[in-house]
Amino acid sequence: MNYCPFSPMKYLTVVLALLLPLSAFGHDETKKVKMPNGGRHLAKPSPAAEFLVQPDRHVRVTFVDDAGAPVPATEQAVTVTAGDRSAPTKLTFVRAGDVLLSEQALPAGNDFPAVVQVKANAEARPVVERFHINLSVCGECQLAEYACVCSHGHDEHAH
Ligand SMILES: [Zn+2]
Repeated sequence: MNYCPFSPMKYLTVVLALLLPLSAFGHDETKKVKMPNGGRHLAKPSPAAEFLVQPDRHVRVTFVDDAGAPVPATEQAVTVTAGDRSAPTKLTFVRAGDVLLSEQALPAGNDFPAVVQVKANAEARPVVERFHINLSVCGECQLAEYACVCSHGHDEHAH
């Protein structure tokens, strides 16, 4: 009698091998750090930063440590390019106490692309974060969608 060479065990191994890289990727994405003011966590710069759209549509950047506690801004230089590619709005930042504040307001609208560049100092290479500034409020975490913490990992919604 002939047995099929593709035993269930072999099949399972192949499936697991295919799934592993995906779950490894997902693991990194679940690392959510709570931001001091409910803004978006910019994880790439070092130190990391919170990106917050204020009610006046100016942007506040607060640098944070690994636990999400604010640390004073030092020599960092931040620029934000937001809105339509055809006519983007460029925001420049000035130091205001321990944080950086944009000198200009974001363009009108509730959902537009943004490119945030953070340099450790004037000469450093910029670290770039791209995301959509979606100002609608998420019904689950009550944060604006651009800062939503719901999409991965639900530890913060245990209540
Ligand atoms: Zn949410």
